[in-house]
Amino acid sequence: MIQNGLLIPQESGHLNEGERLRIHSIETFGTHDGPGIRMVVFVQGCQFRCLYCANPDTMDVTGGKFTGLEEIVKRAVDQKPYFGKSGGVTVSGGEPLLQRRILKQLFIKLHAEGINTALDSNGRLIDQQTKDLLEETDLLLLDVKHFNNDWHRKLTGLSNVNTFKVAKHREESGKPMWLRYVLVPGWSDQEDYLHQLGCYFGGFKTIRKVEILPYHQLGVHKWEALGMDYKLKGVGPPSEEILNKSAAIFREYFEEVQVN
Ligand code: SF4
Repeated sequence: MIQNGLLIPQESGHLNEGERLRIHSIETFGTHDGPGIRMVVFVQGCQFRCLYCANPDTMDVTGGKFTGLEEIVKRAVDQKPYFGKSGGVTVSGGEPLLQRRILKQLFIKLHAEGINTALDSNGRLIDQQTKDLLEETDLLLLDVKHFNNDWHRKLTGLSNVNTFKVAKHREESGKPMWLRYVLVPGWSDQEDYLHQLGCYFGGFKTIRKVEILPYHQLGVHKWEALGMDYKLKGVGPPSEEILNKSAAIFREYFEEVQVN
């Protein structure tokens, strides 16, 4: 299906056949995408074009490989002893919401095995299928790329309107979420906008933590390998001073702020 000029893989019938997910890769013993030790499923396909994307090879909605849900669940069950009380499975990307209907089935199967589910999403799509998936999502890791829509478009190529709608829906559902914010010097570290983000989200009761992810250039070689132009070449990681200042601003609004 084409929506707003973009291919929506889930409804197209092109990406998913039966109970299979188009994935990029699976990471075991992940400790960066949600609480505890987690198996992280990186799905294939994303409509954003973040200038700093560390995994540009996950953008192509026709890339990756199909993997059956039963195989993914089996791998998760095998690793369950390592998850402990707080770990589980995180689906990241790429953008998971592009395959939201099939992901709901995956999360139902994981819950049947007593496995915690987390979704790392940019909030690109909001419809009933998104809401259904979020019902099965124990923790939402919502990536807010920028508070200001013009800057958001410059950074990602698309609007942040749906991201805010997803956040609002999550808040209304009463289920927990973390916000994740990539801090890019000169692009997403403007103090005014950090305050505006804090003012807007500070009253949300479901936000348990805000994670600041310092920008890095670890994905540059992938851009070059794909023949894609990396536009942030001259931008370095944020200094300690910028990180501390940004974290201090967020701490005015949120109880738990973590710099990763
Ligand atoms: S949303 Fe994530 S996967 Fe998509 S382009 Fe941005 S950083 Fe890359």
